[in-house]
Parts: sequence; structure tokens; C-alpha cells
Amino acid sequence: MPSFKVPFGISEDHSLVAAESANKSHKYFCPSCGLPLTFRAGTIKAKHFAHRVGTGCSAESVIHAIAKRLIEKVSLEWIAGGPGPQIARKCEFGQELENYACDSIVQQQLPRNRVSIVTLERTLPNLRKPDVMFLLDDTPTLAIEIFATHKVDSAKAEDLGELPWIELDAAAILINPYCWSPIQMNLKGKAICDSCRQVLIKESEKSNSVMNIFGLHCPSGYHVKAVSCYHCKLEIPFYTWQDIGQNDPVWSEIKDLKLSFKEIDIFLDRKFPPPAPRPRSVQFRYSKTLQERHWVNVCPSCEWIQSSSISDY
Ligand SMILES: [Zn+2]
Ligand SMILES: [Zn+2]
Ligand SMILES: [Zn+2]
Repeated sequence: MPSFKVPFGISEDHSLVAAESANKSHKYFCPSCGLPLTFRAGTIKAKHFAHRVGTGCSAESVIHAIAKRLIEKVSLEWIAGGPGPQIARKCEFGQELENYACDSIVQQQLPRNRVSIVTLERTLPNLRKPDVMFLLDDTPTLAIEIFATHKVDSAKAEDLGELPWIELDAAAILINPYCWSPIQMNLKGKAICDSCRQVLIKESEKSNSVMNIFGLHCPSGYHVKAVSCYHCKLEIPFYTWQDIGQNDPVWSEIKDLKLSFKEIDIFLDRKFPPPAPRPRSVQFRYSKTLQERHWVNVCPSCEWIQSSSISDY
């Protein structure tokens, strides 16, 4: 009879059992559709369960169901005080820079104080039902989606909204359910490796000392880095304040308005003006190109406007 291989089955007491540890005298069922599986423990082929074809169930849906159960198992162990999964993320330092991206992998622990319940059954108010969900009391804190055949698309990502989520590859979870390498995600906070963290510390020491020279500070809502003034070449602080996430609704607003690049500048400037209190080197100045006044950094020493296209001003 034609069949496909299944690496895990559900035992009569409803636990997930790997084919290697299955017992010939017990019965096992498909983790996806619940049909009985045939245990094969030949001498040549590795032990496995065989699933009948033509039932509407597929290898992909079984892999998806197994991954879901494994993630649940590992998560429950973790809540009960076990070692728990590690999230393996690529270091995100310098991602926004053109010629710099770090290759290091950062291992992160999930925050245990953000999870009290692991569920496979919770439906969100918008009727989306993530494969696995972590809750703290009754509040969803993390959605876990499992990729077998359908990736999380933009509509789903939008529905998940502010809820942190990760998408894990089902096949990778079957190999090691404790190592979670998201193929897509929306997590708060960046993953930064130790050596990049050192670079960041040095940069922040540098920008602090440059701010000190001019008696400037970095008020809340601002980021600062030390740059060299376009005009007098002194090291000066350069402030940014528009920290707009990828999923911010402003991007779809911009798309709907069909704005040109210049118009986007002005639009963002009006929408996200520098918050008060402002560093005195952030000023409202006129730009010839934009033909409007907008917010810019000026050199605290020579008062020159800091822009990559100085001729604009
Ligand atoms: Zn099945
Ligand atoms: Zn790094
Ligand atoms: Zn200057």
C-alpha cells in the first residue's frame, strides 16, 4: 500500500512519541489527522511510522502538526523550570547601513516572566489563530507561527499588529526543538552580539564626550552619534528622532498618498517633529530643494547645516 513516512506519532495516552522510541505492541496515530499509523521497524530502514496516502493528510501537514506539538512540549518544560528554547537571531547591528552587517548569531533566552500559559487553541479578537501562543495571565505576549508550506504574509503580519511574533521552520524544529531560528519575526528590541555591543559602548562614550564639549545632552526621544562637521570638520553630535518601525502604519499612509522622496521628507518632518526639549543644535531651517523650512542638525560650533547635500540650503 502506498504510504509516506512520519517521524512522530501520537500514543494512546496522547503523547508525542518519536519513531525511534516507539513500541511495537502499542498503537500510534497521525499527529495531524488522527488516523492510525503503521509502525515499521525493519533492519534496513530507520524506524518510522507509515501513513496511508489518499486520506487528505500530507507529509507537510504532519510535519506542521509535529512541530507545533514539539514547540508546546519544549515551552511547557521551560515554564516548569526546564532549560527551555534558545532563540538564535542574526546580530542586527548595522543592518540599516549599506556596507556593514554583522554575521554573528546571538542566542537569546525568552523572558520567563512574560509567560504563564502556552496554548495551541487561542484565537485573537481578529479571528487569527496563531499555531502556538504564549500568554501572561490572559494577555497574549508572543505568537509562534510554524512554516511548513505557507509563510506568514503581510496581511497576517498586519493582523498580529503589535503582538511580538516569530515564525519557525517546521523541519528545523523537528531536528532540534530547543533551537528556534526565526525565519521571520517581529520582536521588541534588537539582537546585538557581544563584539558589536563593545562597538556601541565605544560609540556612546564618544558621543557623550562630544556632547560634553558643547554642553549638549541627549534628551529622551533622541539618538545621537558623533560625526564630523561638513564645514569646520570638528567632531559634533548629530541627533535623530524619527525611529519609525517597519510595521508602522505611517508607511502605508505614505504609499496611499503616493508621495515623492522630497514630499516624504516633509511629511515625516511634520508628522514626527523633534520632541521637546530639543537639543539647541536641532533647528528649523529653510531648504532650497524642499522650498520649505524643516528640522535639521546644525554644527554647534560653526552653525553650518549638516546635510549630505549642503548646496540645498
Ligand atoms: Zn494524517
Ligand atoms: Zn554583531
Ligand atoms: Zn562646524
